[in-house]
Amino acid sequence: MHSIWEQRSFGQPAQLAVVGAGIVGLWSAVHARRRWPEARVVVVERAPHPAGASVRNAGFACFGSPSELLADLEAEGADATLARVAERWQGLLEMRRELGDAHIGFEPHGGHEVYAADDPLYTRVVEGFDRLNDLLTPITGAGTFHWMPDGADRFGLATGTRVVRTDREGAVDSGRLMQALLQLARMHGVEFRWQYPVLRLEPGHKGVDLVPAHGPALRAHQVLVATNGYVRQLLPEVDVRPARGQVLLTAPIPGLRLRGCFHAHEGYYYFRDLDGAVLLGGARHLDKAGEATWAHGRNPRLQAALEDFLHLHIVPGQRPAIAHRWSGIMGFREQGKVPLVARIAPGVVAAVGLSGMGVAIGIRVARQAVELLE
Ligand SMILES: Cc1cc2nc3c(=O)[nH]c(=O)nc-3n(C[C@H](O)[C@H](O)[C@H](O)COP(=O)(O)OP(=O)(O)OC[C@H]3O[C@@H](n4cnc5c(N)ncnc54)[C@H](O)[C@@H]3O)c2cc1C
Repeated sequence: MHSIWEQRSFGQPAQLAVVGAGIVGLWSAVHARRRWPEARVVVVERAPHPAGASVRNAGFACFGSPSELLADLEAEGADATLARVAERWQGLLEMRRELGDAHIGFEPHGGHEVYAADDPLYTRVVEGFDRLNDLLTPITGAGTFHWMPDGADRFGLATGTRVVRTDREGAVDSGRLMQALLQLARMHGVEFRWQYPVLRLEPGHKGVDLVPAHGPALRAHQVLVATNGYVRQLLPEVDVRPARGQVLLTAPIPGLRLRGCFHAHEGYYYFRDLDGAVLLGGARHLDKAGEATWAHGRNPRLQAALEDFLHLHIVPGQRPAIAHRWSGIMGFREQGKVPLVARIAPGVVAAVGLSGMGVAIGIRVARQAVELLE
């Protein structure tokens, strides 16, 4: 039995309910309040705080490594590839401008791709290097990528490692970024319902009911689903599958020379420095089927592969203690790399499938989704 006050305030339908308090859900709520300042916008989140990939990622603020971009150019042509780079680049600039570098722990230490001495990727990148830089000039400026002949030595990587660098990427503190974004959303008058796992959406003629595991449903005129890798739990027809990623963090390593963000092996390994330690993730290509899950957990085989990579390539000859391990769930489109931003049913829009690029594109994917709302 609700009081008249509860009924008149919290019991009223929301104009917009956003499911998922990740980077996309929060930016969506902010954009929506800017567009309709009088609208009641409620973000519902199943955990006590943001708990998806946005707080479990590696914190790379990046727009694509040379080998990835060259492969995209070959597969999709220049227009599609460059349009995607432009989205990522603009997204990074907007996010930094909106939240402020100091608030998101932005470290302008550059992005790198590394190639082991016998890596066939190296030859491919050498061949396409000048063309790639020419194509990127109108977006990210002249000389976006450059070789670092002393890179292996400077960063303490395995002897013979080749390093290519861009000064235009950096790293963020994903926890601080999400805190800053939450604060922005609160300042915009966004309401929150934490620990509210939505079990299903029930469309009706007065809106859509969000039915939780316990308690009364929340009615909204429109719903924006921003649950990324988990989207099929609510919208099974959507072509976004979960892909779990394994991460480890070493204990601080005395004398560590690593600085910045690094990609290797077609992006299947990624690592950075964090407070004098190494954060390393990936190896998913070794067990894609096993990692096609939305259940968190350790994959011992992949964690062991990460440790081997660390020992062989990043801090050669050393086996530092591992201080922390975790997993995070990404959402990948079945086909292609473009996130799914679409109306799925009357009153229901989805913005999902951000793969490994949500830090850069989250703010713009959210804006696109809000533009689809009525
Ligand atoms: C290990 C790892 C490393 C990554 N590294 C990087 C990186 O360095 N740089 C980069 O740009 N990107 C990286 N990514 C990708 C990036 O983190 C994601 O693209 C981005 O965070 C997706 O944001 P999102 O808001 O769409 O989803 P999420 O952050 O996953 O948010 C979805 C939210 O929905 C909630 N939710 C789910 N189902 C329900 C439900 N039924 N009811 C209520 N709430 C629900 C979840 O609890 C979660 O809080 C990485 C991802 C992983 C997993």
